Amino acid sequence: MTEITFHGGVNDIGGNKFLVESNGTKIFMDFGMSFSQEGQFFSQFLGARTSNSLNDLFELGILPKINGLYRRDYAKHMGFGGNEETEIDAVLLTHAHVDHCAYIPYLREDIPIYCSEESKLIMQNFDETGTDQYLTAKQRFQIYENNKGEISRAKGDKVAVPRTIKTFQSGKKFNIDSIEVQPLPVDHSIPGVHAFILHTANGSIGNTADLRFHGRRKNDTENFVQECAQSDLDVLLCEGTRVNAPSSITEYDVEERISDIVRDTKNLAICGYPVRDLDRLLSFYIAAKNTNRDLVIDMKQAYLLKLFDASDNLRGKYPSPTDKNIKIYIQRGSWGLIDKDIDVFSQKQLYEDYSSWQREFLDYPNAVDYRDIAKNQNQYIFFCSDFRLQDLIDVKPSEGSTYIRSLTEPFNTEMEIKEDQVKNWMVHFGIINRDQDWHQIHVSGHGDGEQIKYVVENTNAKSLIPIHTVNDEYHKKWHKNVKTVNQHGTHQL
Ligand SMILES: [Zn+2]
Repeated sequence: MTEITFHGGVNDIGGNKFLVESNGTKIFMDFGMSFSQEGQFFSQFLGARTSNSLNDLFELGILPKINGLYRRDYAKHMGFGGNEETEIDAVLLTHAHVDHCAYIPYLREDIPIYCSEESKLIMQNFDETGTDQYLTAKQRFQIYENNKGEISRAKGDKVAVPRTIKTFQSGKKFNIDSIEVQPLPVDHSIPGVHAFILHTANGSIGNTADLRFHGRRKNDTENFVQECAQSDLDVLLCEGTRVNAPSSITEYDVEERISDIVRDTKNLAICGYPVRDLDRLLSFYIAAKNTNRDLVIDMKQAYLLKLFDASDNLRGKYPSPTDKNIKIYIQRGSWGLIDKDIDVFSQKQLYEDYSSWQREFLDYPNAVDYRDIAKNQNQYIFFCSDFRLQDLIDVKPSEGSTYIRSLTEPFNTEMEIKEDQVKNWMVHFGIINRDQDWHQIHVSGHGDGEQIKYVVENTNAKSLIPIHTVNDEYHKKWHKNVKTVNQHGTHQL
């Protein structure tokens, strides 16, 4: 018998957690966070309590209550077992967007995670430039006897348990126990996205992951559709984030429009885009080259480019962090010593202004700070995230500067408030007028209605389950055998 239980990702955009069970093999496809579920109960200042996180999330139906699934330190501390063997053979990750991967840090350390090398590096970037624990579970709630013979709490990462991360190669089949997995790259808005075809004893299952045809890797998505058609799929789990949307421009159009705006910009061109969308970074990088400017990125992006550049498989796909058209912006550190008298403080103090992962960039030949940007405004495209708008106070954009917003438009009130705030900053610096909009140039990572219709009609699956959507009526129009499943519901092959 083969069955799929949907612990998230149905009647919802994101939060994918699909448990496939076949002949005793158990695999999760993705283990993501649902923004809508979390948003029902939590906000910035109200979240699951660290000391009781599993139980808090079980209570609210956000995480499935499955023994042996969660990390031992949490399970033991929260009274949910922890000594048992796990029955889960693997987690197969489509990509490193949080709605597909954010709950991985809760998982048992010995459950192997299968993912692309790109996904692994993006998770490594999350861990090393922040406080996430994708690749290593730093054990919490540990006590030890100190040298006075007292029982003490172990601080920080005294015991760090590395997870087993198995990177697969695009197109190359592999087995997890009784299930054969075929990972196929698809076009989406982060590197390394893979759709899957699972071959089980009772039939085959396709999972589109998130996909589109209007990015830089259209042919990958087309190839996935062809592979599905040849695989005689029993069921296709098909995304439908934007099934109700009309067709849009392409990533190449984005690149061109950015170039046009920057060409007409007298002073500083400022931009905001999703930090991990390296195809979008590439669009701005190409626009910078087209207009004889340099693209100024932040240290988190520099770190990600460094990780990609260090990989034999990925080097050259994206600019290296020392590329001649890339500059790395050194923001003010914790004491803001970057422009203070170094004879008073010392070079050592300056380094201590930054986290250890940031320090090396201070010595890069292409490092710049606000003084360089302020002086030579017409030579740069300056990346400024929504979370670092204060940098504009240092950079002081002159008259004739522009802002290009290359992010998704707000789709809830929280995002509207955030966007309004960004607008206030731009008005403050005279970059836009109150009644005049900025340049919004963006394409989604998800296919529009026509594209998803094409996927539905050309994959030739015997049945179809809509995932990652709240509009399943479109799939029903396009396929005669659509099954709808509720959260925690099961579909048998
Ligand atoms: Zn995604």
